[in-house]
Amino acid sequence: MLMISAQNIQKNFEKLEVLRGVSLDIQKGEVVAVIGPSGSGKSTFLRCLNRLETIDGGTIEIEGEKLVLTGAEGIPKYAEEAKARMICRKMGMVFQQFNLFPHLTVLENVIEAPLTVKGVKREEILPEAEELLRKVGLEDKLNSYPSRLSGGQKQRVAIARALAMKPDILLFDEPTSALDPELTGEVLKAMRQLAEEHMTMIVVTHEMGFAREVANRVIFMDKGEIVEQGTPEEVIDHPKQQRTQAFLNHIN
Ligand code: ADP
Ligand code: MG
Repeated sequence: MLMISAQNIQKNFEKLEVLRGVSLDIQKGEVVAVIGPSGSGKSTFLRCLNRLETIDGGTIEIEGEKLVLTGAEGIPKYAEEAKARMICRKMGMVFQQFNLFPHLTVLENVIEAPLTVKGVKREEILPEAEELLRKVGLEDKLNSYPSRLSGGQKQRVAIARALAMKPDILLFDEPTSALDPELTGEVLKAMRQLAEEHMTMIVVTHEMGFAREVANRVIFMDKGEIVEQGTPEEVIDHPKQQRTQAFLNHIN
């Protein structure tokens, strides 16, 4: 089943062409790692997929439903607002900077969106949230505030929070880049577990070890386009394109 179909996505910030015709299809259960230099458009691409950015060209379909289509004059139009919002709820996002609500406890962070966005009953979501927090190893932090947590713990709360909305797809934007090296492992472990449960995931990352072990497919982006893609072995170990080789040499 095709979960995401992005065709010829274009995005400009003023005169800067940030995405120049990015096309990507993602099947159910695929784990896709997106790598590439800073400024290549990786974050912007993820943000376009879940409508944190508008697009200037192209089409996006999520699970066969059109999120963005190109109108008669070639101008992208969002599908009807309420419908687009529903479609986007199928995607959860985890950010580099966690983006937790500082004034809410760990448990309150996790139940907030199901309560307010979906209208799920408190007594229904509480046990689910506790179970999710147990799953990411935070059962003893339910009533802590984010400021009392390590970066790795915060990011695991962010993952539990995304999962509480029962997404079909998870988008991760450099989830371990803000962490001290000794804390990346616990976050990658939670992500690896999701992959094993066949969650569909797009992960922007510099963690080549994770990409190699967990991703089904690696995409190399540079200057707003997909330069090369394939299995981790093809892209990371035997890159064909000179730009991919240069990038991998640089980060190793
Ligand atoms: P990456 O995630 O690969 O590092 P980004 O998608 O964050 O790249 O950025 C791609 C380019 O778009 C960069 O040149 C960046 O400066 C620019 N950019 C990103 N967001 C904005 C914005 N809101 N306004 C203007 N320029 C932006
Ligand atoms: Mg980025």
